[in-house]
Amino acid sequence: MKTSIQGYPRLGKKRELKFALENYWDSKITLSELCDISKQIQSDNWNTQSKLSFQPVGDFSLYDKMLDMAVLLGVIPERFAKADYFEMARGAQALEMTKWFNTNYHYLIPEFDSNFPKHPVDHSVILSQIAWAKQCQVKNPVAVLMGPMTFLALSRGAQQPEIIFERYADLLNAIAKTGIDWVQIDEPILATSQNLDALKGYYAKLTGSPLKIIIQTYFDHVGEHYTWLRDLPVEGIGLDFIYGPENFDLITQHGFPHHKLLFAGLIDGRNVFAASKTEVEQCTRFLLEHIPEQQLVLSTSCSLLHVPLTIKGETHLPPGLAFAEEKIREVLGIQFHTEVATKPNPAVRQRIANHKPVERSPYVKRSEIQQAHLNLPTLPTTSIGSFPQTQEIRALRHKLIQKEITPENYDQQIQQYIQDWVRWQEQIGMDVLVHGEFERNDMVEYFAQQLQGFVFTQQGWVQSYGSRAYRAPIVYSDVSRPKSMTVKESVFAQSLTSKPVKGMLTGPVTMLNWSFVRPDLSREQVCKQIALALRDEVLDLEKHGIKMIQVDEPALREGLPLQQDKQQAYLDWAVEAFHWTVNEVQDKTQIHTHMCYSDFENIIEDIRKLDADVLSIEFARSHTQLLELLRDKHYTNAVGPGVYDVHSPAIPSVDDLKKQISKLLDKLPAKQLWVNPDCGLKTRKTDEARQALAHMVEAAREVRPVAIS
Ligand code: GLN
Ligand code: ZN
Repeated sequence: MKTSIQGYPRLGKKRELKFALENYWDSKITLSELCDISKQIQSDNWNTQSKLSFQPVGDFSLYDKMLDMAVLLGVIPERFAKADYFEMARGAQALEMTKWFNTNYHYLIPEFDSNFPKHPVDHSVILSQIAWAKQCQVKNPVAVLMGPMTFLALSRGAQQPEIIFERYADLLNAIAKTGIDWVQIDEPILATSQNLDALKGYYAKLTGSPLKIIIQTYFDHVGEHYTWLRDLPVEGIGLDFIYGPENFDLITQHGFPHHKLLFAGLIDGRNVFAASKTEVEQCTRFLLEHIPEQQLVLSTSCSLLHVPLTIKGETHLPPGLAFAEEKIREVLGIQFHTEVATKPNPAVRQRIANHKPVERSPYVKRSEIQQAHLNLPTLPTTSIGSFPQTQEIRALRHKLIQKEITPENYDQQIQQYIQDWVRWQEQIGMDVLVHGEFERNDMVEYFAQQLQGFVFTQQGWVQSYGSRAYRAPIVYSDVSRPKSMTVKESVFAQSLTSKPVKGMLTGPVTMLNWSFVRPDLSREQVCKQIALALRDEVLDLEKHGIKMIQVDEPALREGLPLQQDKQQAYLDWAVEAFHWTVNEVQDKTQIHTHMCYSDFENIIEDIRKLDADVLSIEFARSHTQLLELLRDKHYTNAVGPGVYDVHSPAIPSVDDLKKQISKLLDKLPAKQLWVNPDCGLKTRKTDEARQALAHMVEAAREVRPVAIS
């Protein structure tokens, strides 16, 4: 049987791309040195892929595929007319970035403005990769492109689709001239419920190309787009049977055309667990009942971009995992890893089964009790949790890991930071304090490391965007909490002040969505296991005198399935899990939550159902409609729309901040509002964080008398 994959990790074995990019940006290496390193990564990748029937070419990128596509199609906003590639990716006025469907990868959002279609196209991004593939004698290269529908659907201000499709056709012709036979056009947008009828007609412009075209979809089933796709005059169709098993039904119901190849995504391309040999064989047999063997290509469900490179060299991992390199071997059928069935933890399972959800009193009642208990001013000021993670703090953690200092010594020094910052927050007159999260390397890993059920890679880096990579924890078995995780730091901070200090936890849904989860465990079950572990932490904090607890859920939106009919079920259990975590506290204990950098406007109804006493939410970036929406949707719990952008080193002046607070007051009543930044301050320098917060507190103090009257 034929075999393929859709794409491969770009970072390199030792994250060479990351370091090369950073060195290039720091002018430590030249562009040609950067290109040499990129070429080496690509040829290493093709070597690993040599036994497959098809090798992807052009799946590599110096920053991002969407950005590359904008260059290929000449969709360059006026402000970059003379700028270079990296200006658009990370310059002062860079394109905006957002999450790639429901993954943790970020892409740059192409922008159409008056510079389109004036700006010329530039085909060199892909042609240079094809030329290099030829030099490396790649056996059967497939040029990988982002599809025009997906490109248009995800761009800002998309216009003149006919020109985009014409330019696309030109691009295909240019690629055909290189002598390459195949092109893979990625159209993941077809796996969403979005109506694409207006764009479908233009596809005829592409199908006259001399190239053999594969339309590749992934992340879910293609639903009502199936018959259109089936009838399109192309040579291949790629379907994801792992995240869209409904694709099996679509084939049985509507048939699969003769003479087309089916690129059957039967190996999970975005999770780190080994495939089950029996399952792959069963699925293959099923497909063979409907499709002749010569039309079937065994493939991954999506690009392997979303998993680490290899388990080789990992010394702490249990059996049953497969990263990119191992997944290729699975596709080839030469290696299936030992399947390891989950060993259930009966106590955890029983606890989930027996859990009786509790409801809190209505918000109006709680808020009165809390006001009496906490005695906060109008427009209370607070921050989101983290303070700068300085080089010094990182070095301290490094010393602890290297055992150069004792845990006691480490704790002592962390306490010193907490103390300094608590004093400082008191000095500037902040109303609700935080301890600063100095002890945390990462908001998910910190908790995962203290919970049972997670395992960790040493080198399992996955690209997040550009040169940035993360190592997600892996949920390997049932999750439970052996002992308290944050009580020590929170209680210490609270002991230093009479102002309330917020306890600070990462919520169950975010823990789930920012981890790899074993596919034979239900995501809902895992989420609820984490929820109960966190519930114990919440009650522990409350018992130790913590009056406010913030449960962060910035990734609530990320687990949302692509297909609409699956979305509500997810949101329902996600909200339920949050309730399991927080609902058992007393009325006087104030529950906060925090959300940022996602399209939360679409899930306001579900955010309301969370029913947190206070919601701090990112506002400075692109959520201009947020306040109207909260008002129109009758969101009445307290809310703190961020008054400044934490990702900019610029320090907002007191005047700027007063204006920003007044803007909030125009839309929402003072008694509903809090004053806080957009998000945590861990990426800021100490001075930047302090000056901005001091200005924020001052601005709130000056606006307050007007707001009350
Ligand atoms: N409490 C976290 C912090 O301040 C929240 C981070 C986030 O929203 N991603 O760092
Ligand atoms: Zn945030």
